[in-house]
Amino acid sequence: MYIKQASTAAVVFAGLAMPAISEERAISFPNTADGGVLLTADLHTHTVFSDGAVWPSIRVEEAHRDGLDALAITEHLEHQPKAADIPNPDRNRSYDVAVESLVGAGYNGLLIIRGAEVSRNMPPGHVNAVFLEDANALLVKDYMDAFEAAKEQGAFIFWNHPNWIPQAPDGVARITEMHKDLISKGLLHGIEVANGTLDGHSEHALQIALDYNLTVLGTSDIHGLVDWTHNAGHGGHRPMTIVLAEERSEEALKKALFEGKTVAWNYDDLLGREDNVSKLVEACLSLEPSTFGVKTSVLRVDVRNDCPVSFILKNTSEETFQNASDVVRVERNSTIPLQVRMGDEREQVSLVFDVLNTQIGGRKSLSLSLTAPISAEKK
Ligand SMILES: [Zn+2]
Ligand SMILES: [Zn+2]
Repeated sequence: MYIKQASTAAVVFAGLAMPAISEERAISFPNTADGGVLLTADLHTHTVFSDGAVWPSIRVEEAHRDGLDALAITEHLEHQPKAADIPNPDRNRSYDVAVESLVGAGYNGLLIIRGAEVSRNMPPGHVNAVFLEDANALLVKDYMDAFEAAKEQGAFIFWNHPNWIPQAPDGVARITEMHKDLISKGLLHGIEVANGTLDGHSEHALQIALDYNLTVLGTSDIHGLVDWTHNAGHGGHRPMTIVLAEERSEEALKKALFEGKTVAWNYDDLLGREDNVSKLVEACLSLEPSTFGVKTSVLRVDVRNDCPVSFILKNTSEETFQNASDVVRVERNSTIPLQVRMGDEREQVSLVFDVLNTQIGGRKSLSLSLTAPISAEKK
């Protein structure tokens, strides 16, 4: 397969000349209509410092290649299967090594976040705390003390893989009284609706997020290599969280997470609260009408997609298409031409679509209205 090479020269990493990164791989989203930015974050990853298979510098290199804005290193605090080979008395060490490799490689665009995974039986199950100051403080006997220590450090805390089969044999995420208690005490702020290690997608977790005002998250929970697991660089991508932030900074990222301004992205699925998903999809899709030809009310209208997500759209407008059925697919970062039967309308084109690859509730997708004026001028 031909892969277009980025214009940048080879970068030097850890003393080795690395090939330039393909333009297709690095993920990039446009700004939102209100001037905000869409930040990409993977807030759940492992390395050899717990049960992962790679050194932290590989996590940094993967995230750089994927064009991520933020990466959290979140080792299991209690689960250290490699302790005989890699003793890890300081639970901050993998984060420190990741930051050292980031600085050494000179990658400016990537934010690395200190995190940890508190790994307990259900309930409460596994929980990530990110934006920590000291992960060691969470390595305590009582789980409540771990949550309190995370809160004292101002951490953002979320429930991991609530539909993990060993903890939810029927695959259904269910909230417990313990979780409700944690939420009421301000000790639980988010929930994973997509997890790459499980290959898990949970509409039940999404409903819990909506019912209890938790932030929606998608994460890779990667233990091996992103390239092998998610085919990154060849059309695939890791599950991640798209954060609707005011600007590109750590403070804005953290604020948006606490405010629930996120969409989880898994394969081509976008899951989240309706207002967030709507804002994201509106930033991606637009209509570009042509002008009317002589003696026809059929108008060419291009549907343009400025995002690295492929969309499946079901037309629910009155107007139908001369060249397609009501279900159309717009590949990532591309445009498709529609021939719209406009009837008497000459001023503007308005189309309404069910965006089938979105989920804004149990079994509910986003309805999106797109409008654009029709130019009177002949091209
Ligand atoms: Zn876990
Ligand atoms: Zn994990």
